[in-house]
Amino acid sequence: MYNNGLLDMKTIQGRFLIRVGVDIDVPLVGSIAFGLIDRGTNVIQVRPVSFCNLCCIMCSTDAGPCSKWRQAEYWIDLDLIVEWFKGIVKFKGSKHIEAHIDTVGEPTLYSRLIDLIQELKSISGVEVVSVQTHGQNLSVDKVEELEDAGLDRINLSVDALNPELAHYIQGAKWYNVEKVISVAEYLVQNTKIDLHIAPILLKGINDEEIPKIIKWALKIGAGKRWPPLGIQKYVPHKHGRKPKNIKVMNWSEFWAYLKNLERRFNIKLIPSMEDFGIKRMNILPAPFKVGEKVKVKVVAPGWLKSEKLAVDMKCLRTITIIRADHIPLGSKVNVRIIRNKHNIYIAEPLV
Ligand code: SF4
Repeated sequence: MYNNGLLDMKTIQGRFLIRVGVDIDVPLVGSIAFGLIDRGTNVIQVRPVSFCNLCCIMCSTDAGPCSKWRQAEYWIDLDLIVEWFKGIVKFKGSKHIEAHIDTVGEPTLYSRLIDLIQELKSISGVEVVSVQTHGQNLSVDKVEELEDAGLDRINLSVDALNPELAHYIQGAKWYNVEKVISVAEYLVQNTKIDLHIAPILLKGINDEEIPKIIKWALKIGAGKRWPPLGIQKYVPHKHGRKPKNIKVMNWSEFWAYLKNLERRFNIKLIPSMEDFGIKRMNILPAPFKVGEKVKVKVVAPGWLKSEKLAVDMKCLRTITIIRADHIPLGSKVNVRIIRNKHNIYIAEPLV
């Protein structure tokens, strides 16, 4: 019998908690679940933590205590994030960079969020630091700390103003949308942080809430520097959650819906890349091609069930191996890359 090392691991929400930079040391480029993502623009996505404390009925990443597909969560050491982030900023020419802290969970649960924002903002070439949240962990004090740290924008997902409906959508009785609303109003009136309100349209569930959210966002003065609103389309994902009774719209129905609201409220709801200051820039090189055979070391459980996390022998990228239950941690195996988008690698085992 091999010791697969799992017995010593910490857990969170009944899943393995892997502290990258403490329990394992892997490249911060390569995984969708944590680290950094460069999609060839001036926006670098920063994912310092993967877990969430809500259970939204439409969660595309199946986050939170009710997750069915996840087996591991990740927390990333601050110094490691900053080191890798600086490398990417330099690669992109140290100009016009936005650090966008988004995650497959809830970024405000990162224990070192304030330090992270401060560090990112102090890097030469970083002009904007933004964070995406459902707001459940925000308070007036927290917002003031975020402002002092140098945060420029919060993308706030508010999917319903009605408290009962918000409980239902966020999958949590304790979720207090009234508190989120009052903190958001405080933020707009008392801080330099801009607010971008980003509800998701769940056709058949929160249709009546969307116009109310638009009116509220405009009334409180969201969008001082960036667009006040960005309504999201619900897109079903293989490992995401699908709400009961949802009517899934196609893209042309969704654009028509937004155009209608644009006319009704006389605002732009279909923002362009320019509205967010997004510019095309060099993308990090991809060291592996789809179809290529790569030797890797298996270092940790993967994010989803039956996956393992691995790293190539030169330690260039983190690679997720699917159908890997039989592969012990610590082993060195050959895998074939079956997918690579923006340096996020998925591989299948060759053993
Ligand atoms: S949608 Fe966001 S806040 Fe809701 S469960 Fe998923 S990660 Fe958490």
